[in-house]
Amino acid sequence: MTYDYDDQNIFAKILRGEIPNDTVAENDHALAFRDIAPKAPTHVLVIPKGQYVSFDDFSANASEAEIVGFMRLCAKVCASEGVSLGDGHEGFRAIANSGPHGVQEVPHFHLHIMGGRMMGPMVS
Ligand code: C5P
Repeated sequence: MTYDYDDQNIFAKILRGEIPNDTVAENDHALAFRDIAPKAPTHVLVIPKGQYVSFDDFSANASEAEIVGFMRLCAKVCASEGVSLGDGHEGFRAIANSGPHGVQEVPHFHLHIMGGRMMGPMVS
């Protein structure tokens, strides 16, 4: 299965440095930055540096190094934002909207990490 990647999407522009972002952390494979319209006290987006459209594209086609790098950056963000259960905090929600039914707006895979308040039920 192939996925068509649009290199003019806004996160591609962020990765190229064409648009500013509020970086939280980064490593060789991924970048974490604050969502421009936060829905929670902590609302960080983690994106791979490679060109992947969606969660399924990333999980099917990224290298193991990219996947590990991405996940380790998520863990680093959870710790630095004070939401990591491993540090005795209250937890968080991690969401990857994917495709039209997932209401994905930006077609570059990203994981929303949201915390700092009690989330609502997953009803919509
Ligand atoms: O998962 P979905 O694609 O719907 O969400 C995209 C997210 O990217 C939104 O939460 C939006 O606020 C965020 N965004 C951003 N910086 C931009 C453009 C969008 O943080 N320049």
